[in-house]
Amino acid sequence: AGSLLRHLCRKVRASGPVTVAEYMREALTNPAQGYYTRRGGIGDSGDFITSPEISQVFGELIGIWYISEWMAMGKPNTFQLVELGPGRGTLTEDILRVFSQLSSVLSKCDVSVHLVEVSPKLSEIQARMLTGGKVQPSPKDESAYMKGVSKTGIPILWYRDIQDVPSGYSFYLAHEFFDALPIHKFQRTEKGWREVLVDIDPEAPDKLRFVLSPSSTPATENFIQPEERRDHVEVCPEAGVIIQRLACRIEKDGGAALVADYGHDGTKTDTFRGFRNHKLHDVLSAPGTADLTADVDFSYLRKMTQERITTLGPIKQREFLKNMGIDLRLQVLLQNSRDTATREQLLHSYDMLMNPENMGDCFNFFALLPHHRLVHPDKKDKPESKSPLPPVAGFNELLLK
Ligand code: SAH
Repeated sequence: AGSLLRHLCRKVRASGPVTVAEYMREALTNPAQGYYTRRGGIGDSGDFITSPEISQVFGELIGIWYISEWMAMGKPNTFQLVELGPGRGTLTEDILRVFSQLSSVLSKCDVSVHLVEVSPKLSEIQARMLTGGKVQPSPKDESAYMKGVSKTGIPILWYRDIQDVPSGYSFYLAHEFFDALPIHKFQRTEKGWREVLVDIDPEAPDKLRFVLSPSSTPATENFIQPEERRDHVEVCPEAGVIIQRLACRIEKDGGAALVADYGHDGTKTDTFRGFRNHKLHDVLSAPGTADLTADVDFSYLRKMTQERITTLGPIKQREFLKNMGIDLRLQVLLQNSRDTATREQLLHSYDMLMNPENMGDCFNFFALLPHHRLVHPDKKDKPESKSPLPPVAGFNELLLK
């Protein structure tokens, strides 16, 4: 486990302190020693737990969100479900179950699944979960690196980068994905903005510590807004680039994106944290052995869409799930379960997802939609001739027809 630390120390000795973004990228996705590459410990026995791993209801409601948007957009006869960072594949599995249960609604629609995953280890787990392990590597000249067929007969393809996913009408999903992308950190000082860097601790040659750049760095020049009020700022340029790509794709080909993550709307400062065995872990110690994460700045994501599309949210997880009908779903599941252990499990997982003290408040939902999904293009000319557009589920109450 010490080899990634040694690699980083060598790098610092050779060319000076590294940015937090570079440190985070190495710690999470270094091809040999990164946390996601080797471990990716999601779930009870791992390092952190995510909503889809807590309850199947979570993924089912998200599946219903996509179907509701597909219907609102006039039931196009084909769509791609594109998930960024699918983890263990549980969320996709729950969504595909809903798609299969509602196959009479989706019957004439051609659905395919496209997973963007850098970790070989996790893509293997996803393949086992979704296809029962029946996958094949793709030929080198194809953009996908692996492909298979879901248990319900839907083609599934794996990619390393969103740019490799074919264009076309798509529903995108990013659950706890953006918080794993590398951030830059900046501190306001009397001499102006300085970037936080990672250096070797002079008192202990095998330990790392944070320092401030002696002068401004290219990142300080590029990423700090002149109107910034905070004293400490985290910026995730990679998240900005990916959101821009999603916005361009949705503008051009149609569809929608749902982003769910820890986050804030441009108000928080220092949120960079590590998790190991479900406990907080010093971000600079033993890189590669802990999950590193930073809250998503939704105001930054919104800005990076450059108004190519419309955004909704962020809205708190408990409001989104309530709007999607989680209470009714819970009642049905409770009624259908005979034993107390199952009922208690259902109530416990509901509390984990919904209670403001657990994930109910700190988790947010954010959506990207084409402008025409919310406003008729020729609304101004003859508003009365158009039927009203259906409200977007989750951000409003779900209206089931
Ligand atoms: N969505 C899942 C997993 C979240 S963990 C859940 O909620 O349970 C983050 C996921 O993103 C992992 O699958 C990780 O391997 C993947 N990931 C991290 N950085 C990535 C990158 N740059 N490109 C693609 N996937 C990445």
